[in-house]
Amino acid sequence: MKISPSPTLAIDARVKKMQSEGILVINLGLGEPDFTTPPIIKKAAIKAIKDGYTHYTQTAGIPALRKAICQKLLKENKIGYEPEQIVVGVGSKQLLYHAFQVLCEKGDEVIIPVPTWNTYVEQVKLAGAKPILIRLEPPFKLTAAVIKPYVNRKTKILLLNSPSNPTGAIIEPHELRKIAELAIRHNFFVISDEIYEKIIYGKKHVSIASFSNKIKERTVTINGFSKAFAMTGWRIGYAAGPKKIIDMISALQSQTTSNTASISQYAALAAMTNKIPEVETMRKEFKARRDLVTGLLSTVKSLTFTVPEGAFYVYVSLNQTKSEDWCNKLLTQRHVAVVPGEAFFYPGYFRLSFATSRSNLKKGIEAIRQFSQKYE
Ligand code: PLP
Repeated sequence: MKISPSPTLAIDARVKKMQSEGILVINLGLGEPDFTTPPIIKKAAIKAIKDGYTHYTQTAGIPALRKAICQKLLKENKIGYEPEQIVVGVGSKQLLYHAFQVLCEKGDEVIIPVPTWNTYVEQVKLAGAKPILIRLEPPFKLTAAVIKPYVNRKTKILLLNSPSNPTGAIIEPHELRKIAELAIRHNFFVISDEIYEKIIYGKKHVSIASFSNKIKERTVTINGFSKAFAMTGWRIGYAAGPKKIIDMISALQSQTTSNTASISQYAALAAMTNKIPEVETMRKEFKARRDLVTGLLSTVKSLTFTVPEGAFYVYVSLNQTKSEDWCNKLLTQRHVAVVPGEAFFYPGYFRLSFATSRSNLKKGIEAIRQFSQKYE
């Protein structure tokens, strides 16, 4: 089987190796909040262990959690689902993988706007389908008009990710509506990865499945706890969609991982059923960092970028065609890790993550500024 490993995790492995050799590396590469999981959630997990909830659960997740997710989706996302339309799994990454596996057949095409998170492309290939990459230009805002020329009878799925990894761009609601109409007219599915919905600056997140029953019937909404609740290590996410698709995902899950950890499910239940003020505190901190980072980067003459509207990344143009070599040298010579645009099918750029402390960001960008002067 031909499979490419995750480039962001590969860079992280290189950073960890350098760190183990005693080198001080500033890691602006990884997409993981640097905050700890909020105490209410941790306490719920400890209680679950103490209460003996340490066994297999229903494959698709404990009923209380599936119900709580429905309530969240109705209240916050304006989408009405029944608990049997929810499957909880080992992170949104696994649910995306399973969704592509159950929906795709050989010869199907999956439209993916780039720059994009590498995983989608690899997962589509693993499902035997063909990724159709459509190139967005800065400011990387997806529109129905950009998608339309690529739609044909083989189009099976359109992948949406708003706010986007790696650009932080958001699809405007009026465009999202037109995209929904396109999906209905041309009879393709939408997989909408909304994992960064809570990390958004000054705009309101809108879910495509909220527009009508017709679009809801062809959308799988993917979300998780990793980013909003700083729970990357708990490995828990969910998919919501038409019962038939959710049943297929659950069946596949029953033959692969079974349920995700029971303890993580009780922790996620606490995240869904309590007010967690840290979510807003983290969002505010990410916004302050975004402002800091974009302010500092704008003083580097050779670099250009679009200010992100969400997520915790800036996608920076090097104004040259290749970026891998540049990023490798930055890591070797200045000990700063960023992810090259090649990893997002969009070379000539790098992704800088601001999911790290302000002092790290200041030091890291100063090193980038000095390093860039060589190329000016
Ligand atoms: N979707 C996007 C766009 C991501 O950037 C990531 C993680 O980096 C994920 C999904 C995976 O999240 P999880 O931890 O829920 O598997």
